Amino acid sequence: MSYIITLLIIAVLLIAVFHKKKNKKPITPPKNWHQILLQKVHFYTKLSSNEQLLFQQKMADFLSYINIEGVQLELEENDPILIAASAVIPIFRFDHWKYPNLNTVLLYPDYFNEDLDFNASAEGKNIAGLIGTGRFENQMILSKKALYHGFSNKTDKGNTAVHEFVHLLDKLDGATDGIPERLLTQENTIPWLNLMHTKMEAINNDASDIRNYGGTSKTEFFAVASEYFFERPDLLKRKHPDLYQMLASCFSPEKK
Ligand SMILES: [Zn+2]
Repeated sequence: MSYIITLLIIAVLLIAVFHKKKNKKPITPPKNWHQILLQKVHFYTKLSSNEQLLFQQKMADFLSYINIEGVQLELEENDPILIAASAVIPIFRFDHWKYPNLNTVLLYPDYFNEDLDFNASAEGKNIAGLIGTGRFENQMILSKKALYHGFSNKTDKGNTAVHEFVHLLDKLDGATDGIPERLLTQENTIPWLNLMHTKMEAINNDASDIRNYGGTSKTEFFAVASEYFFERPDLLKRKHPDLYQMLASCFSPEKK
């Protein structure tokens, strides 16, 4: 008799565990996000309502596995929202995406220098964001000022936080080199190198509307061109159709 009871208990437990797994609910994003995103995130306003919900779920997922810490500042409500939105923009068209090379975002109040030294003079404090290496491996450091600036101007072609998340995608293959091997099809690799070469040359000859910083290296070109792609897609399509197509095939894999 007792062994029948034991069997029954085991059966009930198994059913309970199975049931729980099957019904694992997606994380429900807070109700006020929609309004904040509509006000601040241009990319979000262009999505259909179903896509907007998906965008919020991806943000909630990002925040469930990434630590966000304020350095010399108290985090405010919109800080994690804008960081998560910046993280989701480049990977929005990817299924079940997680950043494997990030665990913490450190938010600094203002621009900083390479040593992350607050007491240094203002001179040299011109870094808006960076991907950490060494003891900062798997960390991103962002200036809060730059984060908000990236979302305050709807007509420029830049967004610091999106730029840094694009560097993380570039880094997936081990090298941050402007050649995102995980996103490019093999047949696109050589055309991408040629395209970068031409576009960077135009920047360095002062004959381009792409931000000058994109001319400094292939790594920065990929990140700067991607900011342009996400902030002003229509303008990029008109002015640089070849670059637009290439980036669309990187960031919207179903269009390949
Ligand atoms: Zn950069």
